[in-house]
Amino acid sequence: MTLIIDCHGHYTTAPSAHDAWRTQQTAAYHEGKAPPVYPGIADDLIRESVETNQLKLLKERGADMTIFSPRASRMAPHIGDQTVSRDWSQKCNDLIRRVVEMYPEIFIGVCQLPQSPKADLQASIDELERCVNEMDFVGCNLNPDPSGGDFSLPPLTDKYWYPFFEKMCELDVPAMVHVSGSCNKAMHATGAYYLAADTIAFMQFLEGDLFKDFPTLRFIIPHGGGAVPYHWGRYRGLADMLKKPPLDSHVMKNVYFDTCVYHQPGIDLLFEVIENKNILFGSEMVGAVRGIDPQTGQYFDDTKRYVDALNLSEADRHDIYEGNARRVFPKLDSQLKRRGL
Ligand SMILES: [Zn+2]
Repeated sequence: MTLIIDCHGHYTTAPSAHDAWRTQQTAAYHEGKAPPVYPGIADDLIRESVETNQLKLLKERGADMTIFSPRASRMAPHIGDQTVSRDWSQKCNDLIRRVVEMYPEIFIGVCQLPQSPKADLQASIDELERCVNEMDFVGCNLNPDPSGGDFSLPPLTDKYWYPFFEKMCELDVPAMVHVSGSCNKAMHATGAYYLAADTIAFMQFLEGDLFKDFPTLRFIIPHGGGAVPYHWGRYRGLADMLKKPPLDSHVMKNVYFDTCVYHQPGIDLLFEVIENKNILFGSEMVGAVRGIDPQTGQYFDDTKRYVDALNLSEADRHDIYEGNARRVFPKLDSQLKRRGL
């Protein structure tokens, strides 16, 4: 039996009171006031928000569970300061915990981090510990550009990030590299900024030597790895020119791509170029692209259809849908084993 584990889901349909509080929190910050008290949100509202969306689609499309994190475009760590980002991240992660507790067999928690453009990573370390140790979360979304489009922080291979990576290794959790909303009008969030950031992160890993210092550190670069698989020859060539080892030993022991690529030719290319051991099934459904493809009559983000159409061997199929996710998220593996799976 193979479990179908979607490694990339966000709570894009959170109850409106949650987002309303964020608006009030932001306004209070700009007015120099304390934020209002966070509202009570009834269980029924949370149930309705997932049962009519993620849960419904998950069942319709034949998946078993999803790794679930707060809405990425609303993380917006550039708003306010460290305290604003910390308070918002905690509320978002607490809401994920409630969803996980209501549907423990379906949803697996991954946390948002209280990054802030001018802050160090101590608050993110604290929140990661809280979410993993107290709430059974299995990973985090790490934003390589909390400025929202300026890329003002040093590359992910810089020592700035090391304290956080040490904590990730200690807790044995991976990070999905994931930016948030774009502050730059010239850069559409999900159509340009997300894919650019995925590509930028990969090139940072290529240019640096991060995995020499952290051989067990693991990252998922979402959205099929941005432009990387399509330009794989360029990156192999750049590794050669920069006197780096081949990519399979230099980067691909630590970096994974998901299948959030919304058409068959893109998935075909991903699987032709990238080794199966580096690919995790993901859909990011109810996310960036929610419509139906007029060419196929199916939802663009129903990525399971594209993967199924590859006619993978049973062993490869198992790895893509379950095995690789259990390897990259050991805490998920432990949870599933405790459930007899
Ligand atoms: Zn995402």
